[in-house]
Amino acid sequence: MNVHDKYKPLTFWEKTYIPRVIEGLWLTAKHFFRNMTAHILRLFGIKLRWLGAVTYQYPEVLRPLFPRLRTMHRLTKREDGTPRCVACMMCETVCPARCIYIIAEEKFEDIQIEKKPKSFDIDLGLCIFCGYCVEACPEDAIRMDTGILEISDYTRDGMVLDMQTMLNLEPKHDRYVKYNRDGDIVSSEFIEAK
Ligand code: SF4
Ligand code: SF4
Repeated sequence: MNVHDKYKPLTFWEKTYIPRVIEGLWLTAKHFFRNMTAHILRLFGIKLRWLGAVTYQYPEVLRPLFPRLRTMHRLTKREDGTPRCVACMMCETVCPARCIYIIAEEKFEDIQIEKKPKSFDIDLGLCIFCGYCVEACPEDAIRMDTGILEISDYTRDGMVLDMQTMLNLEPKHDRYVKYNRDGDIVSSEFIEAK
């Protein structure tokens, strides 16, 4: 049986597409009035938990991020500014995308620490942002809380994050939604892009 045989032939009205156009307009209007009602009620302090849809004017206005979201990696530093990383290779080993490349060298400055990374690269063109590297790290040396999602480049080499870039990145907590102890959102303001 031809796969098209199981479909009924279109009626005259179906061929005009008028019922579908009316259906689409009705759906759009329904969402419009629902959202407008939610925004007006919220404006007067009624039904505060009923949130209307919001259009973010991206890229001028950035959307608040949820704290669990994993964004571009950074490497954390010790008080003396050196990387916390001890080149144990746990992250490189656990990475399912095989996109972490570490070259280790001996750390002579501190007798308590055997190794440090000579180079530490992550190919974001391959990374799947699973966060395993963060979970596996025994030194809390790698985090994914920079709030940077806009990752692109014209070349594949440009997608490789090097150690110095990652050490210079800071956490962007102001881009994240904040909760109170009850789990309610207390702050999720728009953020003007710089
Ligand atoms: S987030 Fe996942 S895929 Fe990306 S570098 Fe870490 S372990 Fe590898
Ligand atoms: S970032 Fe953490 S897991 Fe990866 S090599 Fe350094 S210390 Fe080990």
